[in-house]
Amino acid sequence: MVASLFGCALIIAAGLLAGSSGRQQPKVTAIDEELSDAELFHRLRQFHGHIGPYAVLGYRLGRWLLDKLGCGKYFGAYITVTGPGITPYTCLLDGLQLSTGHTLGKRNLTLNVIADRGKEPLFQIEAVAEAGGKVLCLNVPLAVTELFAEWMSQELTEEQILHQTLSWPQEELWQEVS
Ligand SMILES: [Zn+2]
Repeated sequence: MVASLFGCALIIAAGLLAGSSGRQQPKVTAIDEELSDAELFHRLRQFHGHIGPYAVLGYRLGRWLLDKLGCGKYFGAYITVTGPGITPYTCLLDGLQLSTGHTLGKRNLTLNVIADRGKEPLFQIEAVAEAGGKVLCLNVPLAVTELFAEWMSQELTEEQILHQTLSWPQEELWQEVS
C-alpha cells in the first residue's frame, strides 16, 4: 500500500514537472554563452566521458558554424558530416552535438561514413540553415590527424588538450570552402 501510494505520488510529481516545463519547446534557441575552459571541461566530460582533441574540435567548430549561419541551437540547421566512421575521429560528432544541440536522434545531424580513410579532407561538413537555406561548407584537413597524434604523443593532460584545441589557429583546424 505504501509502495503503491509512493508510486502514485511519483507519477503526479512527474506530471507536474512535465506541465511546468511546458510541452511546446521554442523552435529557435540562441547559441549558449561562451563557456570558460573549466565549465566546458566539466560539460564535455559529463557528456562524452573524456576530453580528446576531436571532441573539443567538434565543440568549437559547432559554435562557429551556428554563429556563421546565424541560426539557433537544437533546430536551426541540417548538418551533414562526411568522414571516417571510427573513433577517435567520430568523437568530433559528440562535440558538435554538445555545442549545436543538433543531434543524430533528431536527424538534423547526419554522419556519412566514408570507408576510404587517409583521404583528403578528413571531414567534409555541410550545414544548411533551416530558415533561408543558407549553406556553409567546410573541410577539416587531413593534417589535423598528424597534429592531434603529435599532441597525444606528448602525453598532454586533458586540460591542456582542451585549452590547446580551443586556442589553436582556426585555419589549421578547418577551412571554409565555397
Ligand atoms: Zn572521445
